[in-house]
Amino acid sequence: MTAQIIDGNALAKRVRAEVAGRTEALKARGIQPQLAIVLVGEDPASQVYVKHKVADSEQTGLKATLERYPADMSEADLLARIHALNDDASVHGILVQLPLPRHMDSARVIETIAPAKDVDGFHVASAGALMVGQPGFWPCTPYGCLKMIDSIGLDLRGKHAVVIGRSNIVGKPMAMMLLGRDATVTICHSRTADLKAMTLQADVVVAAVGKRNVLTKDMVKPGAVVIDVGMNRNDEGKLCGDVDFAGVSEVAGWITPVPGGVGPMTRAMLLVNTIEAAERTAG
Ligand code: NAP
Repeated sequence: MTAQIIDGNALAKRVRAEVAGRTEALKARGIQPQLAIVLVGEDPASQVYVKHKVADSEQTGLKATLERYPADMSEADLLARIHALNDDASVHGILVQLPLPRHMDSARVIETIAPAKDVDGFHVASAGALMVGQPGFWPCTPYGCLKMIDSIGLDLRGKHAVVIGRSNIVGKPMAMMLLGRDATVTICHSRTADLKAMTLQADVVVAAVGKRNVLTKDMVKPGAVVIDVGMNRNDEGKLCGDVDFAGVSEVAGWITPVPGGVGPMTRAMLLVNTIEAAERTAG
């Protein structure tokens, strides 16, 4: 079998077009959806990420404001700035780019964002809402993975989904989303005794580890759906995922590439959360 590719770029384009339509509809009612992005410090990767987030937003008609602060900004000043954005009715979504400088407590900073504007979905209130099935904002990466699974028309009910990785921003929320769709979910991590025994049972595997070749051909059930969240560098310095793409493609039914898979969908889902935030405020 040769796996079919789930094209993250093509799907993200469709999602952006849908967001653009919803943005137009709000603008017609006199509401300009707005995302405030806060960047503290000079981290090179973060600078690239925020640039993309601003460009994506503007492409879909969302207004994005980027506030840059020096790395020695005090945490108290950052919290004050977030409070001001919380109180600003023209701002619908707030994103504080991580990582923050070491002298800041990231958890405290994220908890300061009003849950109604937490478009990254990292606030404990957002995590809790996902856990109990209440409306909230879902973290963009697992939300994008779910959209990719949906895009192939797979009914997750009764399927066995194996999530490799248990981080708060990818693995755990991914597992909750799959559970919410009535999949039977297994969460694996660095202490899992026999990863292969788990993944071989899986109809869907989501790999979110951050290590190359965590999932190889011999670990995948024929026809399985494989979603690769990992972002690593290979020996030539090129971007690659957690999955041995060439080998696993020979066995899986569907597979996401890296690059061009989960990455673009993560970016697209931030726009979805932002327009959702603006629509909820508008009523
Ligand atoms: P993380 O916080 O480092 O979590 C990694 C998880 O993998 C942990 O739960 C860890 O287990 C588990 N793990 C480590 N080695 C393992 C092994 N050999 N077998 C099974 N599990 C193992 O990372 P993250 O933030 O979730 O991100 C995961 C990857 O996704 C990274 O490569 C990151 O760059 C990428 N990512 C991509 C996007 C995107 O937009 N494409 C977005 C977010 C993240 P323990 O809990 O036991 O340590």
